[in-house]
Formats: sequence, structure tokens, C-alpha cells
Amino acid sequence: MNTTVVTVDKEHPDRKVIERAGQILKSGGLVAFPTETVYGLGGDGLNPSSSQKIYQAKGRPSDNPLIIHIADLESLDKIVKKIPPKAQKMAEAFWPGPLTMIFEKSSLVPYETTGGLESVAVRMPSHPVAAALIKAGGGYVAAPSANTSGRPSPTQAAHVREDLEGKIDMIIDGGSVGIGLESTIVDFTEEEPVILRPGYINQEMMEAVIGQVKIDKGLLITDEKVRPKAPGMKYRHYAPRAPLTIVQGKEAETVAYINAQCEKLAEQGKKAGVIATDETREKYQASVVKSIGSRQEEEGIARHLFSILREFDEEDVEAIFSESFDTPRMGQAIMNRLLKAAGHHIIELSD
Ligand code: AMP
Ligand code: MG
Repeated sequence: MNTTVVTVDKEHPDRKVIERAGQILKSGGLVAFPTETVYGLGGDGLNPSSSQKIYQAKGRPSDNPLIIHIADLESLDKIVKKIPPKAQKMAEAFWPGPLTMIFEKSSLVPYETTGGLESVAVRMPSHPVAAALIKAGGGYVAAPSANTSGRPSPTQAAHVREDLEGKIDMIIDGGSVGIGLESTIVDFTEEEPVILRPGYINQEMMEAVIGQVKIDKGLLITDEKVRPKAPGMKYRHYAPRAPLTIVQGKEAETVAYINAQCEKLAEQGKKAGVIATDETREKYQASVVKSIGSRQEEEGIARHLFSILREFDEEDVEAIFSESFDTPRMGQAIMNRLLKAAGHHIIELSD
């Protein structure tokens, strides 16, 4: 398949491009597009064969449900059985934005989109390109992250091209995304709302709006045997080719530990890589040292995480060590992705 790649202005995308992309969606094709979180791979969420195509293009297991993206609140009624009052409040506070909510699905939503579940995940993105495309494409765009299943989520159109060129109809290049981690997912199908995936919108922000919100315990623990509730969270994800180890501890101890490990590998003739910060990069002696950004700016760390994991696939290193990023606001979201990328391999140095 020939994949058309078109570049648009992030704030004012060309109407003709959006119309053309919308037509592709309406006729059952696939279009990758930027959102404020990561790039999405869009298909018509109400068309079972579009959803099947999405699974195929990504190589994604078909029991891993897709999120339906809408462009206005009125569209929600048609695809869910009911909107709980707390979910309504969340929508008013955080939509459009990086929040996905799970509802009981209406009969309009095919099981192909929900991975066989009776519930449906819905998000209203704020990115102008995403919003315009959803409207042009019929109002209900199923879109997982636009990467090959298992690889880091794409934060630039170049990442999408790496994984999906030749497999989908179109890629809309709207530049780099703003947040760089996927949306927060909250389940509203039970009495009490539960966070199934941490993201930019954190527990504290949500609790300020609706009171207590629980966190699925499968997400926080470093133990990989506890199964998370969102079907997709159980899969190995984001993993770079070389094995990744997270090292948690005070700065000096972390640096010393990582340097010692890299030295051991060097003695065996093996190259190692380090994910460092602006504050520590000069302190490492590994073959490849990459800074993820400054600890003073946690948004930057979140935004660079997936691209740095992809960059390491271009390096010939046999092991990667990363510092730990329990930052105040987005630490939970960052560590959730990093732990998955590391296959939950974390060394906790005593303090
Ligand atoms: P992605 O689209 O790649 O960001 O992944 C979507 C995430 O949403 C996966 O982890 C899914 O398991 C989760 N998800 C989608 N729909 C549901 C649902 N109905 N119930 C629980 N989790 C869901
Ligand atoms: Mg994904």
C-alpha cells in the first residue's frame, strides 16, 4: 500500500487535507494523526472492519480494546449507555484533553472496537488537527497509538513512518506532540472511579473535581505478576531492543552503580548505554549517554521518554541503564511507562 504523508500546520491545518483524510476514514481506511498525547492510528470506530484493520497494521492482539475519539460532548450519548454524574464533571473539567473515560457501551459500538468488552473507552482530544479530523471522519475515530505493537509510542511523524509506512493510507505530520505520554484512563463502569493508566492528568487533579479516585493496584507495584485491569496494560510494551534496567537511589549511588555495571560490561567487550539527565550526563563513563532532560522540568522528561527509547534502537549497545524518575506531578505516569519498557527490571539501591 502506498502511504501518503502530508505536513500540516498544527494550529491551522489545511481544510483540503483534513477533508481528504476524513473521506479515507469514512470509506474504511486508516489515517495516522497527531494528538496532544502521542500520534494515533485512526479508523472509523463504528466500522468493525476498520478496527480489524487497525489491529492488523499494528500487529496488536485483538483483545486489546481501542479508544474512541470524539470531537464534542454531544457525540458521547450515542456510544454509551449512561453518563455517570462524576464522569460528566470530569468531562467538563478536562475535555478536550488527555483524559480517557470508560463507560458501558451502547449497541452502536462494535465488539471489534472494544476487544469484545461491554465497555468502551472514550476521549476528546484538544489537538486542533485531531479535532478537525474526527469531525471530518464522521465523529467517532478509534485510535490506538500509531506504533507497531510493543514499540514505544510515536511522538513524531517520523516514528509513525518507521513503524507503519506502507501499511496505512495516510500520515498527517503535525510536528512533535506536546505531552508525549498516552492519556490518563479512568474507569467509570464501577461504583468508584478507578485509574487504569496514569497520565498527565493525575490523581490529585481528578480528586479536586470528583473526590476519591482509586488507582488500579496493578499499575503501581513493580511486581509484574499483578495483572492490571486495562487489557492493554498486561502486554510487554515500549521495550527497546537492548535489555533496560532502571536504577533507583540517591544520585551519587545511582551514578556509581551504573558506572560500575558499564565498566564490567566494557571488560567483556560490551557497549552499554545510559539514560541520564542534564544534571548527571557528564558523570557517566558509558559508551552512549543520552540525557532525557533536566530534573527541573518533568514535562520535558515525559515528552522525551519514548523518543529516547527509540533512539537507543539505533545504537549498538547490549545493555541500557536508566535513572529513575519519581517526579512530583507526572512521576507515576513516567515510571509506569519506564517500568514496562524495562520489563519491570528495577534495582533499588538502599538509602
Ligand atoms: P492505546 O490506544 O495504545 O493508548 O491503548 C489503549 C489502552 O486503553 C489500552 O491499555 C487498553 O487496554 C485500554 N482500554 C481501551 N478500552 C478499554 C476498556 N473498555 N476497558 C478497559 N481498558 C480499556
Ligand atoms: Mg499504545
